[in-house]
Amino acid sequence: MVQVDIELAKCTGCAHCRDVCPVNVFELKPATADEFKGIVNDPGVAAKFQFRAEKSLAVNGPECIVCEACLFECEGECIVITDDEGHVHHSTYK
Ligand code: SF4
Ligand code: SF4
Repeated sequence: MVQVDIELAKCTGCAHCRDVCPVNVFELKPATADEFKGIVNDPGVAAKFQFRAEKSLAVNGPECIVCEACLFECEGECIVITDDEGHVHHSTYK
């Protein structure tokens, strides 16, 4: 089963992942939600991009078809996908 992880401290809430994913893996929730409690925004990412009022959750990770679209659109470079064969794919912002 494919696993989609997000390094939440680096997620800016840009929503690019949700917008490009063909199988609706991602859902944006308010950054104040319980899921994000204790998360401190990454200063390195903050130096380059604005953190919005939401963060992303990979709510349908097993649906991922590893098209890699989100990996190129993630400005926080914080999406990590482990495919069926155990290969790990990291995001690199285009
Ligand atoms: S790699 Fe997976 S999670 Fe990312 S856009 Fe494609 S299907 Fe969606
Ligand atoms: S594309 Fe990356 S930084 Fe933007 S909302 Fe999705 S996980 Fe967060």
